[in-house]
Amino acid sequence: MPPRPPRCLTAAVVLAALAAGAAGPAPAQTPSAPAPGQGTTPGPTSAQPAPQPGSAAASPAQGSARGPGRGALSSPNADPFPSTYRPFTSVPTVIRNVTVMTAAGPTIRNGAVLLRDGRIAAVGASVDVPAGATVIDGQGKYVTPGIVDDHSHLGVYAAPGGDALSDGNEATNPVTSYVWAEHSVWPQDPQFPRNLAGGVTTLQVLPGSANLIGGRSVVLKVVPSRTVQGMKFPGARYGLKMACGENPKRVYANRGPSTRMGNMAGYRTAWINAEAYRRRWDAFLAGNRQGDPPARDLGNETLADVLRGNILVHNHCYRADEMAQMLDLAREFGYRIRSFHHGVEAYKIADLMARDSVSGSLWADWGGFKMEALDGIRANIALVHAAGARAIVHSDDPSGSQRLNQEAAKALAAGRAAGVAVSEDDAIRWLTINPAWALGLDDRIGSLEPGKNADVVLWSGNPFSVYSRAEKVWVDGALLYDRLDPNRQWRTDFELGYVPAPNAAAGTGQRPAVPAGNGGTR
Ligand SMILES: [Zn+2]
Repeated sequence: MPPRPPRCLTAAVVLAALAAGAAGPAPAQTPSAPAPGQGTTPGPTSAQPAPQPGSAAASPAQGSARGPGRGALSSPNADPFPSTYRPFTSVPTVIRNVTVMTAAGPTIRNGAVLLRDGRIAAVGASVDVPAGATVIDGQGKYVTPGIVDDHSHLGVYAAPGGDALSDGNEATNPVTSYVWAEHSVWPQDPQFPRNLAGGVTTLQVLPGSANLIGGRSVVLKVVPSRTVQGMKFPGARYGLKMACGENPKRVYANRGPSTRMGNMAGYRTAWINAEAYRRRWDAFLAGNRQGDPPARDLGNETLADVLRGNILVHNHCYRADEMAQMLDLAREFGYRIRSFHHGVEAYKIADLMARDSVSGSLWADWGGFKMEALDGIRANIALVHAAGARAIVHSDDPSGSQRLNQEAAKALAAGRAAGVAVSEDDAIRWLTINPAWALGLDDRIGSLEPGKNADVVLWSGNPFSVYSRAEKVWVDGALLYDRLDPNRQWRTDFELGYVPAPNAAAGTGQRPAVPAGNGGTR
């Protein structure tokens, strides 16, 4: 196992990412491209004024236009900062004479896909071609669903890494369930377009792992936008970031928790308080709502919504014994863990994960970079899959996220080398439908089936080949990235004014100094 840097963003990673572009050579020309489909106006949010506080009719607090805002009550499943995303302009598109990896069934050789009105309209050996449709000949190429990375810190640890853009770890308290990652996301992070160029269409952006309970995640579409609301996946459930082991121990060594037993006591105390909070509020909301409501508490509000089953738990945890402890903890308080993240020893408890329907969001071959990562093995993902749990290839890394197809290829090869029966049809699920399930979105994305969102990648060849690149990427049927068309390559505001276009930078040998990174996320 190669040692890995103990941070999410290192200067080297940032510089490499900025210099190289995603998953392949940078385009010869990098224009000051407007957002695809948006002319020269900003994003799809421009015509969508942000909702005003207290404007939602759904809030029970809305007595009159001058009444209290929705923040007056602690409402289950509240959505105070709703998505303003609207799909970009799309045209009916047929990709035919192509190998289709659906993530829902066996690969279709010489198949075809029809994208229409933002959805997958048809998939099969052949499809109807509507009048006026764009027809793409995919000979020698592959089509897959858009990749879903369920462990990202894009936007919260934006490039270039430095203190000014270090917004991923609120490392001021072991339990910060009151923070929401979306309030740190910088939509102009130049890593977003590189992710799209790697075929990633959906990201879960998480708080870092300094804390026992780090806060809410946010699920984003990888699309240009002025605001984070314009990137938010409409209707996606929130996640809760929790972290085991060495990180909280290290960060809070002086004030505690400083041991694993201290970690466990910290979680239990938080859940005890949250359960009391949930009971108070559920009783108030179910009653006649007379008198003053219970005091609102942001942290307990998030935890209470986990206990109600509205928020999905994403638990950073490396060691098998600790993951087993976390399964017991979840059972003690009556919540479910949706996914163990990193889980380098997941192979040792894969049967327990399958039993409790916990997925494993894992690396292909990271391990050995700290004590709790010591016993990682390359067949981890394949063994978790073979045990019947949902295996997921995640990144926790801005560069790895641009090449998740290659990460899956490594995991596939390692599994086969270890004698585990795994196929390319299995491996494509590790990148698509399984992470979509971890986010509670498997009914909308993650496979090429009629009715699903048309998040689609056309690869130049087999996506598990190191030579293949994402050539075209559609989000909700709109072509937002085309490796062959410089006008379909999104650049963020940051790059327009700061990073030279690749052709202009050639020969200067000069790059802006990039300060050191920030607190640990893995
Ligand atoms: Zn992380």
